[in-house]
Order: sequence, then structure tokens, then C-alpha cells
Amino acid sequence: MLTSYHVKCPHSGCDWSGILLPCRDTDSRGSSVRSTFIAVFECPKCQRRWKAQAIGDDAVTLPMEQHLPYSDILRRVLMYPTRGVAGLVDDLLTVCGEHGLQLDWRAERCRVCLPGGAWEEMIDVRLRKSVFRAILARIAALCNAQAPNSVSPYGGQGELSAGANPPVQFRVTFANTPAEQRLELMTGREKGTGVESRSNRAEQAAATDGGGR
Ligand SMILES: [Zn+2]
Repeated sequence: MLTSYHVKCPHSGCDWSGILLPCRDTDSRGSSVRSTFIAVFECPKCQRRWKAQAIGDDAVTLPMEQHLPYSDILRRVLMYPTRGVAGLVDDLLTVCGEHGLQLDWRAERCRVCLPGGAWEEMIDVRLRKSVFRAILARIAALCNAQAPNSVSPYGGQGELSAGANPPVQFRVTFANTPAEQRLELMTGREKGTGVESRSNRAEQAAATDGGGR
């Protein structure tokens, strides 16, 4: 049983404080025997989340994850897509490409990191399973559009490039089955380090059309 805590919202621009129950997705396994665990709270005023270490009756707010410049953009892209799933995936690849991000995303848990950086968990990014599955299906379609039959709709490992000027190369590993949904995305910059012309998209498309079948 989760108990409520007296907490104060640590997010900037918000001064809410009061009695709050940890979120339902707090990992509280074993909390009935151990009184120490990490609780996730959601502010009733600004709707943002944070983590706190529950120690007995107290919840001690943990230092906020470093506020990295891409976090807000990525959140907006994922939580408030404006152009459907295809647009969401486009925007996701653009943000990852621009910042060289790596993404490790499984069901409810989405983590990102910069090359050589620490993983940051996007604790307030929550998508419905159906949306996540649609994103994964779109990723699979993109891989297969660029290298026909390189992945199955249910999973695999593939490569795709996105964006122009210069195109960014991504390596993806994903699974998309009723039991498992997972996306690992690595951003590489091997291709097109600025030397190549930006007009080779048509060539690429032509090359792609020629393969397979
Ligand atoms: Zn707040």
C-alpha cells in the first residue's frame, strides 16, 4: 500500500506543495517490507513529474535530472504530436539527429543520452501502447523503404537515414509484438559530414527503388 507524503513541486515556475500520493507506476515492489524506495510524483498544478526517495514517512526530492536542452523538445515531439505518427517519427529523428542522441525506449520507459553522456530517463513521457506500436511500425517501414526487406514488422535491426543537409544515419534495433515493444536508436554521423551535396536525395531514392523485389 502506498502512503501519501507531504511534498513540494521542485519544478521551476511552480510552487505547489501539499499532500500527494506517489504515481501508480512508482516501482513500489517490496515497499511494504522496506520503507525506502524511489517514488514518482506528479504535480497536480503543473502536471510535471519528479522523483523522490521515500524514507519512512518522508519523501526527499532527488536532484532533478540535468536539464538538457533537448529534453523539452523531445517531450513536446512525443507528447503533443501535431502531424500524426509519421510526423512524430520525422521530428523524433530530427531531434535525435541534431543532438546525436541515443534512445532506449521500452514500453513505459524512455531513456535518452548524449554520446558519452549519462542516460536520462524521461519519466514524464508516457504514450499509449497503440501509439508506441504505431511509431515502431513507422520505423520498420522507413528501414524497409531504404533497404527493402531489411527488417520484419515484428522486429529486427536496421539502418535508416533521415534529414538532409547532411543526412544523418541511424541504427535501430526494435521489437514490435503484442508482448514486447522496444526501440533502441543510435545516431551516427559517419555519413555525410557536410562534404556531400545536399541534392543526393533523389539519387538515394532511385537507388532504393532499384533494390529488392
Ligand atoms: Zn508543479
